[in-house]
Amino acid sequence: MRNSILRTITVGVVMSLSLAACGGDDDKAASQSTSAPAAATSAAASEPAASSEAAVSSSPEAAATSAAAAAGGGGGKIGVSMPTKESERWIADGDNMKKTLEGMGYTVDLQYADNKIPDQVSQVENMITGGAKALVIAAIDGTTLTGALQKAADAKIAVIAYDRLIRDSENVNYYATFDNFKVGVIQGQSLIDGLAAKAKCKPCNVELFAGSPDDNNAKFFFDGAMSVIQPKIDSKEFVVKSGETAFDKVAILRWEAATAQKRMDDLLSRSYTDGKVDGVLSPYDGLSRGIISALQAGGYGSGDKVLPVVTGQDAEVESVKSIIADEQYSTVFKDTRKLAEVASKMVDAVLKGGKPEVNNEKDYDNGKGIVPSFLLDPVSVDKSNYKAILIDDSKYYTEDQLK
Ligand code: BGC
Repeated sequence: MRNSILRTITVGVVMSLSLAACGGDDDKAASQSTSAPAAATSAAASEPAASSEAAVSSSPEAAATSAAAAAGGGGGKIGVSMPTKESERWIADGDNMKKTLEGMGYTVDLQYADNKIPDQVSQVENMITGGAKALVIAAIDGTTLTGALQKAADAKIAVIAYDRLIRDSENVNYYATFDNFKVGVIQGQSLIDGLAAKAKCKPCNVELFAGSPDDNNAKFFFDGAMSVIQPKIDSKEFVVKSGETAFDKVAILRWEAATAQKRMDDLLSRSYTDGKVDGVLSPYDGLSRGIISALQAGGYGSGDKVLPVVTGQDAEVESVKSIIADEQYSTVFKDTRKLAEVASKMVDAVLKGGKPEVNNEKDYDNGKGIVPSFLLDPVSVDKSNYKAILIDDSKYYTEDQLK
């Protein structure tokens, strides 16, 4: 199905390209498609680019063409569907996608679904009927878009999964994301390093949290983290007093901070009436803040009851401030500007009948097959390096924003 869309797109693209060759806009489109943003270019350069499954199995001219035909080669409307405005990162993702795509000559229909699955489904359906040439979707629940994506396929609309893989659909053409297993390894390693540096525990009491079970990323994060934490549990250097170590026991539906706060509350009263918790694996800054609130309410962070080492993800402003204030221990920086560049280049390549650059064609099987992916590199951030990474090198934040 994935291939048939691209094949169809190709035919149109070939036509549109030959028409474009007679007009003046062609050069502009070509230069836009080759002027890759620096960040995405360097990311691409770091790993060998592979040709995508979709592009490989359809003929190169064909793959290059079908979406291009529809978009007129460098224009047209792109639907961008984001999960929620509750978290800073998705606001940045939406803004960055809009800016990057508009810079490439597209118009953008950007929608947020307030973490409500039916809202996301109807927003995507409206994008399809509203004439979108391609869809870029960060799914709330990766399994609920099968029907909508079939409609997209029927209308020859290309689909890019953004950050979160869309599952159970043959109609996901490409996937732009970070190396999600590596995110988890960074989190687990940071918990280990933080405990070694900060706590005098022997053994160390740790508790584990995971993300939303309907988000394909959550299991990758947890598995990555456990790849380094489990050996510490096996060697008895770490003890999980609650006994809760299985993903489905520790997962927090829809990444809700309040749910994480409540679980941390419960853990403290159930398992820590004697002894104290030394470290908490948290997969996302919003959850980390909920967890830290519960810990503070339980007396941690005052007197000799130091806050445990708490990890995070996304480098949200509030959490970076918390790191600077010695509350949260660490986070994972994922540069959403780079992700938007990669996803936008995928859209542009598909719509112009070309092959998007991918660097992973083995790890992301969505239940219907491997989705060709481009993985960016996540970066570990703590108090020792936040300034270099977030302010000086990447210019993601200004010093003032973190005051
Ligand atoms: C993203 C993370 C984010 C989480 C909660 C995941 O899918 O990859 O960056 O922290 O969702 O929004």
